[in-house]
Amino acid sequence: MQDKIVFTGMRPTGKLHLGHYLGVIENMVKLQDEYRCYYFIADWHALTTKYDKTEGLKQDVIDVATDWLASGISPEKATIYVQSLIPETAELHIYLSMITPQNWVERDPNLKDMAKILRSKEGFASQINYGLMGYPVLMTADILSFNADYVPVGIDQVAHVELTRDIARRFNNIYKTDFFKETQPLLNNCALICGLDGNKMGKSFNNDIKISDSEEATAKKVMSAITDRSRLRKDDPGHPDECEVAFKYWKIFADTEEVNKIRCECEKGERGCADCKRQLGCKINERFKEIREKRKYYEAHPETVEKILREGSEKARVEAQKVLKEVRQLVRMF
Ligand code: SF4
Repeated sequence: MQDKIVFTGMRPTGKLHLGHYLGVIENMVKLQDEYRCYYFIADWHALTTKYDKTEGLKQDVIDVATDWLASGISPEKATIYVQSLIPETAELHIYLSMITPQNWVERDPNLKDMAKILRSKEGFASQINYGLMGYPVLMTADILSFNADYVPVGIDQVAHVELTRDIARRFNNIYKTDFFKETQPLLNNCALICGLDGNKMGKSFNNDIKISDSEEATAKKVMSAITDRSRLRKDDPGHPDECEVAFKYWKIFADTEEVNKIRCECEKGERGCADCKRQLGCKINERFKEIREKRKYYEAHPETVEKILREGSEKARVEAQKVLKEVRQLVRMF
């Protein structure tokens, strides 16, 4: 176990899907054995766009934590916490906001995307609020609250870590210190899974398979996955590389030998798509069997999940307080 700190988190979007599991959670489970990990659920970040829809927010936090715990993220190994339970991060956000040039924030690619989505909506929620503008700085405050060494990211999020580094460097220059580390991205090469319709998997696109789905629901959803559109009868020779979803899933969930066998049978017209997808549904259910059983336990005991989050937050807060104490001195606050 290295003494380096890894920091990452998720917005509380409710029950998570296989895209989250394969793209993020599986990596978090691995990293907790190698580093000192802080994993947080970003409920303040949720407010940047959903400030007017907070009825389900607490349950969404619990749902994300339930999926994490079921998937093997362990409070014994990683510090799991809720962002809004660490007020030190909000104070650090203020100091960092004071030194961050506006155009550094505006160049954030995610902010541009979010702004576009918001502008396309009608009414009150279409405004870009001050809090949303500042979200890249808040994200920097999250990371620097623990003076993290690494943030695991996909290639498209490297820019976020660059901004964190830029802000940390600017702070160090202004206050003549080398207190903040220059956080590095930890690139992950996780499998990217598309949605059942071939587009990006997402809750709002209604094309996802959830970790919490039952075996029946999973099997049913997999039957709707897009296959080789040119194939009309089950004994027509298939084209696995043009099988837009099902074969891609096989490549994620089966080993090379099985994938080669499926490819061969498909190309020879010896494998019907309905059968193929039935087997695929079983394969996915097999992979998530244990996780789903564990999930049922936590789902039935939300008080246990909440206790884990509160204890993790207390632990995280102690560390954030140490960072903030130093920052207050460097900025020469009263
Ligand atoms: S048999 Fe399987 S791999 Fe081949 S096109 Fe149908 S679903 Fe895709």
